[in-house]
Amino acid sequence: MNIRVGLGELRPGFSAGGPVRYNIRMAHRTGKLVVISGPSGVGKTSILRRLLADLPQLIPSVSATTRPPRAGEKDGVDYHFLAAEEFEKRRAAGEFLECCRVYGRQHWYGTLAAEVAPRLAAGAWVVLEIDVEGTLSILERYPEAVTIFVEPSHPDQLEERLTGRGTESPEAMARRLEVARRELHEAHRYQHRVVNENLETAVDSIKRILIAAGLPASSPPPRTPSGAHA
Ligand code: 5GP
Repeated sequence: MNIRVGLGELRPGFSAGGPVRYNIRMAHRTGKLVVISGPSGVGKTSILRRLLADLPQLIPSVSATTRPPRAGEKDGVDYHFLAAEEFEKRRAAGEFLECCRVYGRQHWYGTLAAEVAPRLAAGAWVVLEIDVEGTLSILERYPEAVTIFVEPSHPDQLEERLTGRGTESPEAMARRLEVARRELHEAHRYQHRVVNENLETAVDSIKRILIAAGLPASSPPPRTPSGAHA
């Protein structure tokens, strides 16, 4: 069973940047959250990269993780890479909107409130790329979030991509595939499902979903507490 914590209320002083003058209620009324999920190997990261390049009004939330960086991944860009003790300290301090241990309890992943709430309060559209459990937690707080599940076009696609990526050990890959099989059964919980048969088509489908959901043509300047990545 994954372990989760709730943020409760954002408290002044929770950010390293000093007192924070916003709250979740305010955030609910302003910007919009977009959640993109899908099993490991389905191509979410490539889709997200394209969406962010084409739609500058979408602001990515950089998750925190205890997983070690892969070759080419940068701290603060791909993830906030945290030591397990640091992650636990921040979890205990209520700094996460949601967090859980993915893939056989091996590593923690979580969405920092500081990545999301101030940007929503500033009217931005913030996009999260998180797993199914994380999505369900986020929906409890932000029921109006736009949720999109990316599915493989055929069952072997995930294994092929994970093998091609070559970043996982055989054990880690087996764990990811097992979780992927379970996640595919949760696709019905999402408002939208997009099949990633072809990157262009998948990106276009998601753009259409976002435009229909009211994505503005341009974004207000992102406002973040100091220390958060814009
Ligand atoms: P990876 O290790 O391949 O970067 O990511 C593993 C999984 O963790 C992906 O399915 C990804 O969506 C999920 N993930 C990444 N960040 C978060 C997060 O902040 N919260 C949750 N719940 N899942 C996350």
